[in-house]
Parts: sequence; C-alpha cells; structure tokens
Amino acid sequence: MGTDNQDGSGGQDTDRYESVCFVCGRPESKAGRMLRLNKDNSLCICVDCMQNGITSMGGMQGMQDLEINFPDMLAGMNLNHLEDMRMPERNRVKHSAKKEPEKFDRKKIPAPHKIKEQLDEYVIGQEFAKKVISVAVYNHYKRVRTSSMNDIEIDKSNILMIGPTGCGKTYLVQTLARLLDVPLAITDATSLTEAGYIGDDIESVVSKLLLAADNDVERAQEGIIFIDEIDKIAKKRNTTSRDVSGESVQQGLLKLLEGSEVEVPVGATSKNAMVPQVTVNTRNILFICGGAFPELEKVVKARLTKSSSIGFGADLKDRYEDDENILAKTTIEDLRSFGMIPEFLGRLPVLVVLEGLSKEMLVRILKEPKNAILEQYRKLLALDEVDLRFDDDAIEAIAERAAEKKTGARALRGVIEEFMLDIMYEIPKDPGIGSVTVTRAYIEGKGSPLIGMRTFPVLPE
Ligand code: ADP
Repeated sequence: MGTDNQDGSGGQDTDRYESVCFVCGRPESKAGRMLRLNKDNSLCICVDCMQNGITSMGGMQGMQDLEINFPDMLAGMNLNHLEDMRMPERNRVKHSAKKEPEKFDRKKIPAPHKIKEQLDEYVIGQEFAKKVISVAVYNHYKRVRTSSMNDIEIDKSNILMIGPTGCGKTYLVQTLARLLDVPLAITDATSLTEAGYIGDDIESVVSKLLLAADNDVERAQEGIIFIDEIDKIAKKRNTTSRDVSGESVQQGLLKLLEGSEVEVPVGATSKNAMVPQVTVNTRNILFICGGAFPELEKVVKARLTKSSSIGFGADLKDRYEDDENILAKTTIEDLRSFGMIPEFLGRLPVLVVLEGLSKEMLVRILKEPKNAILEQYRKLLALDEVDLRFDDDAIEAIAERAAEKKTGARALRGVIEEFMLDIMYEIPKDPGIGSVTVTRAYIEGKGSPLIGMRTFPVLPE
C-alpha cells in the first residue's frame, strides 16, 4: 500500500482516469489526497473517509499523520475482498488529455465564412440560418478563448432555432459539432422535469455532454448542448396545478444557460450515492435550443394583422394568410405570447428561423450533399459492380412523395428504402446485370426499373 504518487504514475490507468474513493465515491480532484489500498493502486480511499472510519472505531489518539502510521497498521490486512468494490471505468473522470494534439485548435477558430462553406457541403438551403449560426459559433469560441480577459465580459451567444420538423435543425448542429470537433449532447426537452419529479433532472443534460466528451471535464466545458422540442416546455395555459414539465423546466434551465457550476454524476445521467460526482462549469458551453413551435404562425399572423389593420396603413386582413415564410417575422414578443418566459428568451440572444423544405430543396438534398442518400445507394450497388442510376424525373417523384408526408427531409429515406428493397433483393440473383435505372414509373408503381446487362458475361466463381 502507498500514498498517491505526485506524478500520477501510480496504477495502470491512473494516467488516464482520476482515482475515486471507494467509500464516498468522490474523485481525487474533489476529495484531495488518496490512500491507495492494493498492489496495482486501483483501489483508493480518501483521507476524510479514512478519518471517519477511525472516529467511528473509537478514535486513535495522537494519530496525526496518516501517511506514517497507516501503512504499518494495514500491512498485514487482507484487502482482496475490496477489489470488487472498485469503481468501474465509465464512472471515473478522465484526466484531460493535454498531451494529445487537438484537432480543433481554438487559437485558430475558423472564420464565419469558412464555417459556412463547410456547412454548405452537408446542409442544403437554410442560407440565412447557416450564416447566423456560423457567426454565433465563431463569436462563442472567440469569447471562450479570451475568457481570461476579464475587463470586458462578452455575453454568451446561445442560439434559439425555430423551424418545422425535418428541416435540418438537429442535422445542422450535428454537422457543426463534427466540423469543430467538439463534444455534442442532444436532449429532448420533453423528458426533462423539475428536480424531484418523475423524468430526467435538468442537469442531466450536462451529464450527457460529459459522457459525449468521454468523461473529460475540460472538453465537455467547451462542448455544445442541443435541446430539441423546446416548444414543448412552453408555459401551460389555463392550468392551476404546478407546471413541473413546462415553466419550471424553463426556470431550471436559466442558470445552466447563463453559466454556473453544476455537480454531475460521472458515467450516469442520474445522481445516486454510488456514483461519483464532478463539477462542470457551463459558462463556456454553447446551448442551442430548437423547436418546431407549431401554431406560432397563428401568433405571428395575429400580431401582424392587428398592427396593420389600424390607422392609415391599414391592410387587408388576409394579407398574411398565404405567406409561407411567416415564421421569419417572429419576434421575441411572439415567443412570449407562445409561452416562453422572458428570462429564458433573454438567455438565448441569437434567434434563427429555418425554412420549411420545398420540393426543389428535397431534390437537392437527394443529390448534392457530400453524403447524399442517392450516392450512398450508388456506392452500395457499385460494390456489386452494378451501376445504379436515377432519372431526373424519378428524383422529382421521390421528392414529391416525401413532401406529401410533411415530415421534411426525414421522409426521403423512408420513400427510398421502400422501392430500393426489391432492387437490392433481385440484383444479386443475376450476376449478368450491369446497370439499373430507376424511373418515375417505378416510383409511382406503374412500371419496373430499367435493367442493363453486362456486355461481357460474368463467369461464375
Ligand atoms: P429536425 O429539424 O426535425 O431536427 P433533422 O435535422 O433531424 O430535422 O433532419 C432529419 C434528416 O433529414 C437529417 O438527418 C438529414 O439527413 C436530412 N436533412 C434535413 N434537412 C436537411 C438539409 N437542409 N440538408 C441536408 N439534409 C437535410
């Protein structure tokens, strides 16, 4: 048995993970010095717990220096039975991997136009949203970098994203996190409830980020948290009972959005006595909240109609009825009327509205992104040396069918899977097939795909 090595070179994995006290579960960054109890130095107890143990045994007068006396006292004891109580790796805080080179060098934050350029390769359309987000992210990480310059505090630029389902909100954030190589946690606001009620604690969003950062606190502290379905925590109207999953969740999120120290369990999303905890500061975490905000159009329309039907500039009432892009006119006032509390909105200063996807945009999504769905299928068939082609007309038909489902780009894969099933089932049967062309008639169920045979016969293996 020995005490903690100052250079951290004690046990096999002490380089990568902090030691955790097997009695109180605190990591060494919280509990301080650890006494190691076994040969490979993986079983530890903190000085506090050791002292408590002694006190409960009746005390040991004059035992001032644990380091000198404990080894003698415990030398002959068999501690093997304690091995099973060792904290599993997933519950242990990782030492920040400072030695490894960082992929995303925060000293060289990509300029907004570079971020947008990279987003363009994956996310189709949503030009304005991509621009706003690129600037917000650039400013955010610039602020993180200069956080030591305390003379002027730069406010956080958390983002609120509004847009119909399947228009690319989550995809945009996922792409962004991947490009910047920062950890990302995606949570659903509907699963959150005020502490003490059934559901996930609000702070569980931070534990998820820690998990995504592989228990590396420093990396997590500069990550992104995306909270989806944020419209579902709007203040409930006409309710007399306590609104534990609505307004209370908004209230609970306030301090996280602003920046505060949160105690989170390591390797789990809920706190319990057996799981060690660590402090994560949310000051430099970028929060992005997204939601479809159904019915928000009505609120915006009502406001616009009201303001334009008074006075000399009075307009026709139905002027905004057919305006497809009405959500782009959303203001903070509208969101307040929708049920979001002002303090919450105040902490999400960047408002981004994404457009609903038109048929033309769906066609582009099928063809253009770097990992376009059609390309994925072409590649799959190319492995069998079969050339898969799509008529332009067929691509339009796919987009039309997906648009009918009203779930944005999310419907595309479903539509494609449906008709690709037969192709992928039949093609491997005949090694003579060299190409398959998908036509509109095939998508509409009125014909079959065009099959081309190889010019040179394939010899059976
Ligand atoms: P939501 O807005 O509901 O969060 P998602 O971002 O989850 O929608 O979109 C679902 C899927 O649709 C994504 O995984 C992505 O493949 C595709 N998608 C949606 N919008 C776009 C877009 N603008 N460009 C490219 N792909 C998109």
